[in-house]
Amino acid sequence: MKHYDYVIAGSGLFAGVFAWHARRAGKSCLVLEKRSHIGGNIYCEDVEGIHVHKYGAHIFHTSNKKVWDFVNSLAEFNRYTNSPIANYKGEIYNMPFNMNTFSRMWGISRPEEAQAIIKKQREMITHEPQNLEEQAISLVGVDIYEKLVKGYTQKQWGRSCTELPAFIIKRLPVRYTYDNNYFNDLYQGIPMGGYNVIVDKLFEGCDLLTGVDFNEDKEKYMAMGDKVLYTGTLDSFYDYQFGYLEYRSLAFESELLDTDNYQGVAVVNYTDSETPYTRVIEHKHFEYGTQPKTVITREYSKAWEPGMEPYYPVNDARNQEIFEKYDALARNEEKVMFGGRLAEYKYYDMDKVIESAMKLVEKEI
Ligand SMILES: Cc1cc2nc3c(=O)[nH]c(=O)nc-3n(C[C@H](O)[C@H](O)[C@H](O)COP(=O)(O)OP(=O)(O)OC[C@H]3O[C@@H](n4cnc5c(N)ncnc54)[C@H](O)[C@@H]3O)c2cc1C
Repeated sequence: MKHYDYVIAGSGLFAGVFAWHARRAGKSCLVLEKRSHIGGNIYCEDVEGIHVHKYGAHIFHTSNKKVWDFVNSLAEFNRYTNSPIANYKGEIYNMPFNMNTFSRMWGISRPEEAQAIIKKQREMITHEPQNLEEQAISLVGVDIYEKLVKGYTQKQWGRSCTELPAFIIKRLPVRYTYDNNYFNDLYQGIPMGGYNVIVDKLFEGCDLLTGVDFNEDKEKYMAMGDKVLYTGTLDSFYDYQFGYLEYRSLAFESELLDTDNYQGVAVVNYTDSETPYTRVIEHKHFEYGTQPKTVITREYSKAWEPGMEPYYPVNDARNQEIFEKYDALARNEEKVMFGGRLAEYKYYDMDKVIESAMKLVEKEI
């Protein structure tokens, strides 16, 4: 049996950044991935020449120059700027909430008019907000809450906003400029040719095995490397001995349509509560595609059950307590390093995952 410097469980961005640096330092790596393909959640599937973001829309954005230079050394990025649209019962609004949104909602044109309306509506809540509904109204007023926050948030959490705790929404950014750019970061874009271009470069020179769950033969795989990097869920590594860590899950329903342009933008949020899905993604617009057909994906928010794909950690007190028990075990491991969104039970944007993997590289390689 071949022996490696590093056995790496998982082939997402965290694992890839680590593997890339390890290979450059002359180390050998075996990568084990339980899915049938590498790339983790940034993997794209090619459908009629369109790069379909199979595990949800991924837009790269960062203010970290080192991270930006690194990803640009792997692929050229296009000028994509995320400017999603909200559809409330057929009424179209720009996101994030900005002067375009307010102008459409109230027929006004100047910032001070919008500020006056929002100020007046926020004053409805005179006490400490007791639930998410009151919290949202105290931040952005009742009109924006009713049309753009309420239905969407209820679908995301599967519960009414009056039953959700206020702390879930700490801020609802409001911009008094005509600026539809969703992110405030210095740099953003989509890799030309899709994310797989990056993924392939990250794992170049590694031995790759797909369709293999590290935990199913843990002892064997552990023995195959001097050290192990594990990027799967922490509770599964420890055989769920302290119980399951909970997630919110998503379901994706994709369709190939015989039209070249379905919705004119990559992301449309459906903010009413009747439409069962939260968003529709039209993938070709991430790369200014000119293909004769298009692929759209309806995204549904789902309660998670063991066995389902874990998307968003539920970082409430109960789950955090369980996580800390697992984490205490993990910190005592000598041979195994843990990293990434699953092993750290943390929502991480791509740039933050790269930063975190680079920190591990500095310590380890
Ligand atoms: C719906 C959604 C949308 C997002 N959109 C954005 C965005 O627009 N911009 C942004 O910056 N970030 C976005 N993110 C975050 C982004 O997906 C993550 O930052 C990044 O993918 C995390 O990389 P990772 O390597 O930590 O995890 P993952 O990509 O999940 O990789 C982990 C890999 O390990 C494998 N694995 C797990 N357990 C085992 C095991 N036991 N054995 C073998 N293999 C295993 C998994 O199959 C997976 O391939 C989004 C996330 C979600 C869920």
